[in-house]
Amino acid sequence: MNGSILALNAGSSSLKFRLYEVHGEQFTLILRGQFDGLNATPHLTVKEASGKEIADLDLELEDNMREDMLSRIFEIIVPYTVNNPLRAVGHRVLHGGERFSAPVLLDDAVLDYLETLVPMGPLHQPANLASVKLFRKIRPDLPQVACFDTAFHVNIDERAARYPIPRRYGDKGYRRFGFHGLSYTYIAERLHQISDYLARKRSVVAHLGNGSSLCAMRNGKAVDTTMGMTPLGGLMMGTRSGTVDPGLVLALIETEGLSPADLKHMLYYDSGLLGVSGISPDLRDLLASDEPYAAQAIALYVFSATREIASMAASMEGMDALVFTAGIGENSAVIRKMICDRLAWIGVTLDEEANQANAAIISAPESRIEVRIIPTDEEVVLAKQTAKVIGEGEHGEAAA
Ligand code: AMP
Repeated sequence: MNGSILALNAGSSSLKFRLYEVHGEQFTLILRGQFDGLNATPHLTVKEASGKEIADLDLELEDNMREDMLSRIFEIIVPYTVNNPLRAVGHRVLHGGERFSAPVLLDDAVLDYLETLVPMGPLHQPANLASVKLFRKIRPDLPQVACFDTAFHVNIDERAARYPIPRRYGDKGYRRFGFHGLSYTYIAERLHQISDYLARKRSVVAHLGNGSSLCAMRNGKAVDTTMGMTPLGGLMMGTRSGTVDPGLVLALIETEGLSPADLKHMLYYDSGLLGVSGISPDLRDLLASDEPYAAQAIALYVFSATREIASMAASMEGMDALVFTAGIGENSAVIRKMICDRLAWIGVTLDEEANQANAAIISAPESRIEVRIIPTDEEVVLAKQTAKVIGEGEHGEAAA
């Protein structure tokens, strides 16, 4: 495929986009942009791949805010697509449910199905689908592709996928799906590029960002993962609780009188680092704070991540490599050290200098487990998956 692809990552409070030029297998980043603060004062930043600033401004958006933003994206990219026409938009979509284990061309039927999955991702799925619908309205001529965060995990071990609840619910699709699949796809490809030998080994990939999860990976495939049917499960996160005793949820309903809406808000927006610290969901704020609750929130985060890393190792009956990625994993030497120190018993020995320097390999030579930092790139995966679907369509193959 030749031309340009727009990759879109629409969250509940931000919207990121990237424009890629595509020539066959070659993907070149042209432009990156982000709308932040969608729930307060929207702010737009756009840069060329070289770093040259194109826009950095607060926006006054009306009620049709999202439509306005998407129209602006099309205006911004016009001069960059003159010689390489825009061929398609790739959307990051949280949940593909049981039906989609690969990227798919979006049409009415696909959208209808994806709508039914909103309860499995009430924070992200509506924002993802809202952008899809608006794009279809603004540019009905343009093919749009959904790339799913669940797809990477589609073949996880059945023992990890099935919840121990009555079969009739499991058979209806209440099961572990797992998320952050675009990030794990990228890391799996990088591991393969770095060394085939390494890619075949048992790796635990720690995607530690505002949303945090782990993936137990072997041979470029997911074996187990910490998030569940929804992206609320697993590790403690910025504002999400991660896994808690289901009995706690029942108690909060029965004794505290919380409604389903109260609970949803509490578990998605008001828990995790924010809930425990009472200060911020952002790890940088907590690291900079002298408040004891900030330190306690960090300690819980590290404890939760370490415990789950060991559980991913148990799912693979061993672990040969640990990979850190995403905002915290890529940038916070302090958190990596706290986690690695707690994993000494399993064979992790950190190279302190390499860790401070955010080096590619941060384990000491004698470490039984190799520890790496691999910066993730979900958007390039979006662009590649989108181009593949469009290319297959051009060659008359089924796109789904
Ligand atoms: P992400 O969701 O991947 O963008 O990651 C966001 C998280 O990464 C936030 O909690 C940030 O505080 C954290 N983060 C980003 N840079 C750093 C850094 N240099 N040190 C510590 N945490 C960081």
